This record gives sequence, C-alpha cells and structure tokens, in this order.
Amino acid sequence: MKKIMDFMREKKLDAILVADGFNMRYLSGFTGATGYLYLSEKQKVILTDGRYTLQAKEESAGFSVVEISSARGYAENLCDLISQDQVVNLGFEDEIMTYSAVEKLKKKLMVCRWEPLGDSLSGFRRIKRARETGWMAKAEALGDEAFTYILGELRPGVTELEIAAKLEYYFKTHGAEDISFPSIVASGIHSSMPHATPSRKTLEKGDFVTLDFGCRYQGYCSDMTRTVVLGKADDRQKEIYKTVLEAQTVGLETVRAGIPGSQADRAARDVIEKAGYGAYFGHSLGHSVGLEIHEKPALSSKETTILEPGMVVTVEPGIYVPGFGGVRIEDMVVVTEDGCRNLTGSPKELLEL
Ligand code: ZN
Ligand code: ZN
Repeated sequence: MKKIMDFMREKKLDAILVADGFNMRYLSGFTGATGYLYLSEKQKVILTDGRYTLQAKEESAGFSVVEISSARGYAENLCDLISQDQVVNLGFEDEIMTYSAVEKLKKKLMVCRWEPLGDSLSGFRRIKRARETGWMAKAEALGDEAFTYILGELRPGVTELEIAAKLEYYFKTHGAEDISFPSIVASGIHSSMPHATPSRKTLEKGDFVTLDFGCRYQGYCSDMTRTVVLGKADDRQKEIYKTVLEAQTVGLETVRAGIPGSQADRAARDVIEKAGYGAYFGHSLGHSVGLEIHEKPALSSKETTILEPGMVVTVEPGIYVPGFGGVRIEDMVVVTEDGCRNLTGSPKELLEL
C-alpha cells in the first residue's frame, strides 16, 4: 500500500478508483471482484453491493465498506467520498472501466480531473513476494500431481473432453480452488492448433496429446504443458519433440534478471529456426503469471521490459505442423538474479504411453 501512496503523490493524484478485480484483490484482499476500491491519503474504501458487503468486511481489514443500493448507487457514494476529501485529480483504470460507466460517473463528479492510469496499477503485481511465489509453487505442484494422475487415464477411445473434465475434477478434489483457465487437451491433428478446445474427438494410437492446464491456489495461477505420444512415436514426432525440448532448455537457461523478455524468446526461437521449423512456432516464448493467467511482461520478440528477481514467467516453445500435429512444453519459473527457479517438476523426456 505504501508503494501505491507514493505512486499517487508522484502522479499528483488526490485519489484513485480501482476497478480491476485482480487489482482490488491484490490491494485489499477482497475477492468479490465487484465494485470499486477508493483510495486517498485519508480513506480506504470498498464500494460494493449487498451480495458482497459481508465478505468484503471479513476479507479486508483496514478498509471501510460502503454498500451501494438502488437509491444510492456508485455515483452518489463516490460523490460523498470525493467531496469529503476535496478531490480534484482522480486516477481511474481506463482499460477496465466501460465508456458508459465513466460517462455516468463524470456527470456526477464534475469537480474531478479524470486521469487515465492505463494498466499501471497491475504493474505493482509484477514482482511476487515470497508468500506469493510459495502459493504459486503449491499450485504448480498440484499441476505436477494432476499430470501424474492423468497419464494413467490417457488411452485410445477416451475423448479430449473427458480428459479435460478429469483434470478439473482432480484439481478441485485435491486442494485447488479452481482451474486457472479452461484446460487444453489436443490430440492428433488437433495438437497442431496451439489453443485447441477439447472436443469429442477420441484419443487414437499414434496421436500426440498436448495437455496445457493449471489451477488456482490462494487466487494464484499455475500453468504447465506436456505433450506425450499414445503408443510408439515415429521418427518425425521424435524429431519435433527433441527440437521443442532443446528450445525449451535453452529458453530456461537464458531467463535471468537483467535481460529483456525478447532475449529469451530469441534464444529459444533460434533453436527452432535452425532445425527448420521456424514457420511453425507462431506464438511468444512465454508470459508472466500471477493472480491472472496472462500478465506482463511477456517473453516475446517485442518485449523490452527488463526481467527482475521475483517475476514469475512461463517458458513454452512449441512447433505446430498443420495436418500433422504439434508439441508444446511449458514450465513456470521464478526469475532470480542469476537464472531462474523452476516450479514445475514433471518429466520432460518423450513419454510413449
Ligand atoms: Zn499453459
Ligand atoms: Zn502459458
């Protein structure tokens, strides 16, 4: 919270209005993701509706909770707060609030200069504290467990949807609160689509099966991908797998504090390009993870942000050959001064089931 107050002083803001649910949770502990946080030098207030007020009071020590009603909505209540604090400059999350919500408030809060904050509040979440990386390690460990379990369920005849459902059931019955995103289970030629949706397609002998999944623990996401072959891999499958694994290894060796994300992307991409598969690696090497599954900075060709210790990023190169199939291998790591600490423990040698 001190950093937020310093940020407000630096930007000459009298108050800020937080609308992003993840930022609300990060700053106050309130998990309801509905309403606003109002922060000024003098007041820390959660404005939400009657469905969430009890929860907000329980979760957010140090915040007062204002219940909005049909008679007195957000605009009326914010008007009170702003006049109490004599706010002139008000920061708001223009990338989150809808145009109509801003227009509605502007009509009531005439005294304010509205200062768009872009995604700068999310920037406070980039570097994870030890407690947060501990939760993420726990979430990723649950992912490792789920992977071991699901290997026993992969066999010809089961559908991609069944496998996705089993992953979700496993997570929710083994300590996770939720899945962190809809699991990807892509088999055979489906695996050539990086973000294929699980379908009624059954797994068949000889298929590549790509599993990309994660869960939430204390709100924090895990993310990992493994690709296996059902039955014996052929030579082309082995070559593609070996290339992706080599690119992933080089990517992991490159990640460290002090380099831009683009440098890690380049290093891994070089391996795939040299093997002749450059055209089949169409996405970035990785992304940051936290309360959200995709956070900034990315490990992408255009990323100039310098990596810092405590950032948590994924390293996930892939090769996707249309009409044939694809491979992706993804680990989630904590950036350190001289490298990274891998939170993912699942094996990476080619598994032929
Ligand atoms: Zn993933
Ligand atoms: Zn990912």
